[in-house]
Amino acid sequence: MSATGYLIGVDVGGTSMRASAVTTTGTELARHRLPTSAELDPQRTLDRLIAELRAFLPPDTGKPRAIGLGVPGHVSAGVVRRAANLGWRDHPLAALLRASTGVDRISVSNDAAATALAESAARGHRGGVLVVPLGTGVSGALVRDGVLLGGDSGAAGELGHAPVIPGGEPCACGSSGCVEAYASARSVVRRFRSAGGRAHDAADVVAAVAAGDSRAAAVWDSACDALARGIAGAVALTDPGLVVLGGGLSAAGEALREPVDRRLAELLPWRDAPRLELAVLGQEAGLTGAVALAAAAIGDGQRAP
Ligand SMILES: [Zn+2]
Repeated sequence: MSATGYLIGVDVGGTSMRASAVTTTGTELARHRLPTSAELDPQRTLDRLIAELRAFLPPDTGKPRAIGLGVPGHVSAGVVRRAANLGWRDHPLAALLRASTGVDRISVSNDAAATALAESAARGHRGGVLVVPLGTGVSGALVRDGVLLGGDSGAAGELGHAPVIPGGEPCACGSSGCVEAYASARSVVRRFRSAGGRAHDAADVVAAVAAGDSRAAAVWDSACDALARGIAGAVALTDPGLVVLGGGLSAAGEALREPVDRRLAELLPWRDAPRLELAVLGQEAGLTGAVALAAAAIGDGQRAP
């Protein structure tokens, strides 16, 4: 136990919540996980998760200096505006946790932001890193010199809803032609099926591309094109030196990275395109990033593990 105290990070997921207690110098003291289910109130699950995690620590450990949480949804000033998988709408998460834990420093961000902090720290990258998680949806977050760039309403980095194809596919957000309508795992599967292909998940579509299925190739090409268009817009505005593709779809590896990289170069003929890499942390990114949010809350972002 470090004399400088410890932090708690929580990866709040739609199917499970994971928490880790880490010293401010980066040593993990304990970790815990509980399932999230529609029948259980997610806030009660979260309170229980943190209480049980703290019970694993020595009795004289005291309170954490800060708690960081990554939530799959739109978060603004500690309030979860919308998290469909958790059924939260205008949920005052930070205030509720302050009341239940007695900890003042509570930092809540969306899970893409937490992932971005973790991927940036894992690389020791100085400068700007744009991290784009590609899962059921598509999001994004920009970290510069280890600090997350937020927005006035907390919706910065919603790359998935950048409109990139005029008159394009309808999107779950209510608009059309969004990056997410082409490049999320869900969209890739939906579009391949509507072209007559058979796929259980995005990995099946990737396998069909590799097997030479022309319908799968067309769907994949438009996914890579829409994604590159969204990234090109973000790059033009924010000039990150590194772009990281994460989330479940990044398991496609070079089959994803290479065509997006090529398209990005075509869309940015007036400058060198930033380096494009695949995420390195996988499932750990959300939890590591949540701890990094807690570290940032005590002004210790550079030591984020
Ligand atoms: Zn959209």
